[in-house]
Amino acid sequence: MISFIIRTHEISLKQKNRSLFETQLIKNIKRHLPDATVTKLHRRFLLFLPSVTKQTYTILGSIAGIANFSEVTITSYEWEDIEKTALATFEQELAKHTQDNLTFCVKSHRGNKQYPLNSNEMNQKLGSLIIDRYPSLSVNLRNPDILLELDVLVEQKVIVFIHKQTGLGGLPVGTATHSLSFLSSGIDSPVASWLMLTRGCRVSYLNFDSFPFIGEKTKHKVIHLTKILAKYQPQTDLYIAPFANIQKAIRKQCKESMRTILYRRFMYFVANEFAKTLPDVSTYISGEALGQVASQTIENLQCTNAASEKLVLRPLIGFAKDKIIEHAKLINTYETSIEPLPDSCTLFQPQHPETKARIHNALYEEEKLDSLALIEECVANIEKHYFTTKDALYI
Ligand code: ATP
Ligand code: MG
Repeated sequence: MISFIIRTHEISLKQKNRSLFETQLIKNIKRHLPDATVTKLHRRFLLFLPSVTKQTYTILGSIAGIANFSEVTITSYEWEDIEKTALATFEQELAKHTQDNLTFCVKSHRGNKQYPLNSNEMNQKLGSLIIDRYPSLSVNLRNPDILLELDVLVEQKVIVFIHKQTGLGGLPVGTATHSLSFLSSGIDSPVASWLMLTRGCRVSYLNFDSFPFIGEKTKHKVIHLTKILAKYQPQTDLYIAPFANIQKAIRKQCKESMRTILYRRFMYFVANEFAKTLPDVSTYISGEALGQVASQTIENLQCTNAASEKLVLRPLIGFAKDKIIEHAKLINTYETSIEPLPDSCTLFQPQHPETKARIHNALYEEEKLDSLALIEECVANIEKHYFTTKDALYI
């Protein structure tokens, strides 16, 4: 069995609700890694796996709620066992280094203050043991080539490890609302979705597709983006709504400058109806950022927002584009997002889009349409795709 210690950060801060968050995190870990056994420790977890690959690390790094983790060797409180394990772990790491003048440091944490040796004593004893064996090594407390760490747990165990790998942090998926994220094929909405995934939301995706006005390739791009995002939660649902008829009707019957606003409002009308068929969706997610394009002014956002029956989460609202791009690169959606393909909202774009839309003007335009029939037809033809972490693209 290979063992890991899993450390949480924000969960540790949650006072009364901590066990809820911890239970959800354990559930998520087991769904991402079905072979895993998890033991709860005081504010941490031990994870056991029959085997690990490189991908195991990527998977652990994609589970929200894990601050960092380390592959560890577990030993008893017996000093002899500790010495043996510490030395073996150190030697295994040493074998990976080829340069001369190597430096090292031993850092012990005493979770159990009753343990007879304090951290300094443990560090000194183990440090001397290593120097005796390898006199060419020297100690560097600030920036060692090899950092050997020990953690004396209250559970009568000592864990020994070398690396602390940074995790995703945040809160476990499933501890907040189930959100329907409006996923376009652009840069922003995958980032917005990811941010909410790391705040505990379970996220399902809703895309509005303008086929046949745009080709099938845009749909494949959206599916590809969803598969990149599918590694962050045990199951991911993508819904693709046929939007062409609605856009055709708006183009034909409504004022040109209002088109983009009306498209957006209809996205919410469709989502409102569709969400009734999903058991527990209570919020939407959108990738809008204030002032990013002419259409994303406060007035326009207010006008769009009025079409929503649910709270709309806009995690990017105060982000500049370069910051959003940084995030998109980090989560590997950027390269896909920038492939030059048209999206619904760019279709039949007005020459001079409205920047100060008024709700009563939008309502006036919508009166010209058979809105109910358009919405009903769109909802009835929504295409459904389901992905598990097996379908996820770990790039
Ligand atoms: P993105 O914002 O994802 O980079 P974009 O910049 O082309 O794409 P905007 O015009 O900024 O899209 O749209 C703002 C938000 O509206 C998007 O972030 C997304 O949440 C939603 N949206 C736009 N077009 C679509 C679509 N075709 N399907 C689903 N949601 C969409
Ligand atoms: Mg955008």
